[in-house]
Amino acid sequence: MGTVKAPARTVRIVRPPNADGVGVFCLEIDGACQFYTFLEIRCDIGGRGFAVHRLGQGDLYHVRVGRPEDTACECMGFLRWDRCKHIAALAALIKKGELPPRS
Ligand SMILES: [Zn+2]
Repeated sequence: MGTVKAPARTVRIVRPPNADGVGVFCLEIDGACQFYTFLEIRCDIGGRGFAVHRLGQGDLYHVRVGRPEDTACECMGFLRWDRCKHIAALAALIKKGELPPRS
């Protein structure tokens, strides 16, 4: 029985949100960088809402980050596993204090 090593992931802000609230973060998985644009959007049903779009690809996901019951994403990973890299990336940035709530 071998152990499966989780891929090494780091996330960092590449471009902080501009006046329109649009920023870019980089999700690095095993050394490969994926760039996402993100925009915090109004969320009235719990948690913080973000629209996340991987640069160069068409997919746009609406992600909610917060308590477990307030956490959701529209991607296939979340549908299958109840967790995904989009939520993990945003939660990590919030935890590091790099996504302060907009006033
Ligand atoms: Zn997702």
